[in-house]
Amino acid sequence: MYHRFDAIVVGAGGAGLMAAMQLARTPGIRTAVISKLYPTRSHTGAAQGGIGAALGNLEEDYPEWHTFDTVKGGDYLVDQDAADIMCHEAVESVYELEHYGLPFSRTPEGKIDQRRFGGHTRNFGEAPVRRSCFAADRTGHMILQTLYQQCIKREVEFYSEFQLLDLIISEGVCCGLVVLNIKDGEIHIFHAKAILFATGGFGRAWKITSNALSNTGDGVAIAFRRGIPLEDMELYQFHPTGVYKLGILLTEGARGEGGILRNNDGERFTERYAPTLLDLAPRDMVSRFIYQEVKEGRGINGSDFVHLDLTHLGADVVENKLPDLADFVRVYLGVDPVRELIPIQPTAHYAMGGIPTDVDGRVLMDESNTVLPGFYAAGECACVSVHGANRLGTNSLVDIVVFGRRAGKHMAAYVQEAPFTELPRTPDDEARQQVSALLSRERGESAPEIRETLQEEMMDKVSVVRSEQTLQSARKTVHELQARFAQVAIQDRQTWYNSELLETLEVGYLLDLSESIIAGALARQESRGGHYREDYPERDDTNFLRHSFVYNTPDGLRIAHKPVNISKFEPKERKY
Ligand SMILES: Cc1cc2nc3c(=O)[nH]c(=O)nc-3n(C[C@H](O)[C@H](O)[C@H](O)COP(=O)(O)OP(=O)(O)OC[C@H]3O[C@@H](n4cnc5c(N)ncnc54)[C@H](O)[C@@H]3O)c2cc1C
Repeated sequence: MYHRFDAIVVGAGGAGLMAAMQLARTPGIRTAVISKLYPTRSHTGAAQGGIGAALGNLEEDYPEWHTFDTVKGGDYLVDQDAADIMCHEAVESVYELEHYGLPFSRTPEGKIDQRRFGGHTRNFGEAPVRRSCFAADRTGHMILQTLYQQCIKREVEFYSEFQLLDLIISEGVCCGLVVLNIKDGEIHIFHAKAILFATGGFGRAWKITSNALSNTGDGVAIAFRRGIPLEDMELYQFHPTGVYKLGILLTEGARGEGGILRNNDGERFTERYAPTLLDLAPRDMVSRFIYQEVKEGRGINGSDFVHLDLTHLGADVVENKLPDLADFVRVYLGVDPVRELIPIQPTAHYAMGGIPTDVDGRVLMDESNTVLPGFYAAGECACVSVHGANRLGTNSLVDIVVFGRRAGKHMAAYVQEAPFTELPRTPDDEARQQVSALLSRERGESAPEIRETLQEEMMDKVSVVRSEQTLQSARKTVHELQARFAQVAIQDRQTWYNSELLETLEVGYLLDLSESIIAGALARQESRGGHYREDYPERDDTNFLRHSFVYNTPDGLRIAHKPVNISKFEPKERKY
């Protein structure tokens, strides 16, 4: 089936819906949103802690301080011009959400309430500041519900439970998509003047992750296969407080409200590593502190986890400010956070890298900033880069809202000028072949087995701590798994709701992305932010203060580099 729209957004999380809103507000533009999930099930809905903006409602605060924290938090690999835009526009974006009807938690005077979060400080690092705006611990849920309602009101057309298979680029212009209707297996072609990928992250490459099952990096992998380079893929964030063994996220808001991490001796070990910010040091650091405690035998009972202690906060704070967290630990662990300690370990959480874009969401085809006309990306699948080597808590919601908004505005202007580019004659050939090969192969390798091996390998060898040896070994395994994947077979031959087929495609995406992550991690012979190399434990600004671009070429992966924008703050050692 063929469809034609002026603009198409793939992904109905916060980034996609914010962009769709801007398009829908411009008269005469026909916009569609395609999503493999029902929109309100997108991972944005799982975001708990909050969205950072220097509103200064409870304490003095300025966007400039927010920019500084973002740059320092990102270990100086942040493009400072982009971070500056983000932190300034965060303020108006939060008010825009408020005006759309988002039910923020309030101060007694009725202002948007704000709380502390890791790495957010007053006056360039002096002391913690209250910057995170929140709706209890359901901030992402409220953002998603609010934006979805607004999009419905403005008659955005939704294609829910439609899974993207391929991107169509013709005559150097991005002009369409090949998409599978999950309900009946039919393949659809979407023709458009402009396309935005807002397809989210890929935490499912690791065994222990906070990410939903659907976070398999489809858009990033599909762009990569179509010749778009990926930026800074080696920079992946492990969040310190995942539920032990399950990876489910326990919001940093818990430490923002005063929660404390303790080792087997009951010691608040962050005092030794980050004397000023303590438990609210940035995530990359706290994850490494936990790794270190465990390595030196101070994990709980010598095991590989530590405790999050909320028992001193009192039932009132726990039940009212952290209700979802309290539910999670009661349901999944049988632990009462008001009286008992919670076992936690670092969990794969957030991709700093992704599809390279400029500050208007336009996708870049190379490290010299050449734009691919008609193609945009925003949100976790994109790399602007505002998070550098480590994202600060609350800054992803800021990113999706600010850059989703900017991309949507730019697209609205672009589609009013640009013509439709003709589609190639059979743009769906490759996608159809890919699907029919899977449906027709009688016997072969098992995708779930490949996925499990991949996730274990990435967890053991490409997580909080890496080295030449672990990375080489992981690379070898991924190559073997890719070869096995070429022979994968599935049992289910139905066309309708064939989740086995879709999950198999997703394993293919995770394999390609893992390969690019490992390539970037091998090339970055230093330690910076979320990327810690045991064999190169220091940050090396002389050789590695630069972005990496990984290209998918017929001869394998190729790495190139791009300078970092350093327009405001000179790199310094990161101390908290
Ligand atoms: C548990 C958890 C808690 C978090 N808490 C916070 C927080 O408090 N503050 C903060 O700033 N950040 C937080 N984050 C990070 C933040 O929520 C995410 O980075 C952000 O919401 C991503 O938004 P997005 O719009 O880019 O993508 P998502 O919300 O992940 O949406 C992706 C969309 O793409 C669609 N899609 C994907 N693949 C396909 C395909 N093949 N075909 C069609 N559609 C497709 C999906 O259907 C979905 O609609 C948290 C993340 C997690 C996992």
